Amino acid sequence: SMIVGGLAKMRAKAKQKKQDQGLGIESLDGAMMSFAQGLHQLPQVVAQQLGAAVQLNTQVDSLSFSAEFGYQVCSGDQIWQASQVVLAIPAAQVARLIDDLQPLDAELHSRAQDCLQQVDYSPVASISMAFNKQQISHPLNGFGCLLPTKEAKQTLGVLFPSSIFANRCPDDQHLLTVFIGGGRGAEAMTLTPDQRLQLVVQELAGYLGIQGQPLWHEESLWPHAIPQYKLGHLPKVALVDEALAQFPGLHLRSNWRDGVALGDCVENAYQLAQDIGARPL
Ligand SMILES: Cc1cc2nc3c(=O)[nH]c(=O)nc-3n(C[C@H](O)[C@H](O)[C@H](O)COP(=O)(O)OP(=O)(O)OC[C@H]3O[C@@H](n4cnc5c(N)ncnc54)[C@H](O)[C@@H]3O)c2cc1C
Repeated sequence: SMIVGGLAKMRAKAKQKKQDQGLGIESLDGAMMSFAQGLHQLPQVVAQQLGAAVQLNTQVDSLSFSAEFGYQVCSGDQIWQASQVVLAIPAAQVARLIDDLQPLDAELHSRAQDCLQQVDYSPVASISMAFNKQQISHPLNGFGCLLPTKEAKQTLGVLFPSSIFANRCPDDQHLLTVFIGGGRGAEAMTLTPDQRLQLVVQELAGYLGIQGQPLWHEESLWPHAIPQYKLGHLPKVALVDEALAQFPGLHLRSNWRDGVALGDCVENAYQLAQDIGARPL
């Protein structure tokens, strides 16, 4: 039952926590966390440790497999040969890259590609902006807020990074990070960045007591930001797994199938890396 499953999950979590404590690993369960210079430090440090093995701005164009030579991964005129390949890329990219594989069941393979193409990603823009403290009457004494649908706003939510983390902006300023878009913010995605800025400032002004314009702002827009786990998503993922099971050493790890949260992505990647590392070459 769900209760038994829930209890088992709690017990497993408690056991893991105890093991981590034994290893001196501090649990961040549910905690808001970042790094001194921001989250981008995580990929930067991983890349540093991997050194020359990391090739940036290198789009994989094709992937093929033969029982004799394993996988051939091509990008422009570069070719890599590998026995293990991890596709940690968006679903539509997986659909494209598996096109050159020679499946035993072409019909199943094609259905899997359809499922991958159908994974829906909603667009999101994040807008960081700073205000003088006097411009905001709310004390911002929290991590931020989400705007539920009944508020009928396009803004999804706002974080208060300068309240949560140290050294995010000068002491006399507040830093806000606003998210807009998603399913209900489709209209906002048709606006120009300046219009979107005006919209979020206007939508948040009443809640936070904002006066005037931000001192500076910066927008990042992801047209395909967050994969949506809609009803029927998991059977589609299972079908993709079934179709690709015939290809040994081909792994999929991504936010469209193993959990959207960054913590899930890191944990799943770590487990897979350990699993692959433990295999004989
Ligand atoms: C605006 C926004 C806010 C978020 N906020 C939070 C949050 O507060 N907390 C949280 O836990 N999570 C958050 N998330 C979710 C989380 O950040 C993502 O789910 C996670 O980072 C996705 O990791 P990934 O490695 O699966 O995919 P990605 O980070 O999308 O990586 C996929 C990579 O594959 C590359 N790629 C694609 N095709 C190819 C190809 N053919 N060849 C080579 N490379 C290719 C892409 O360039 C990209 O670098 C947020 C996401 C967004 C968009």
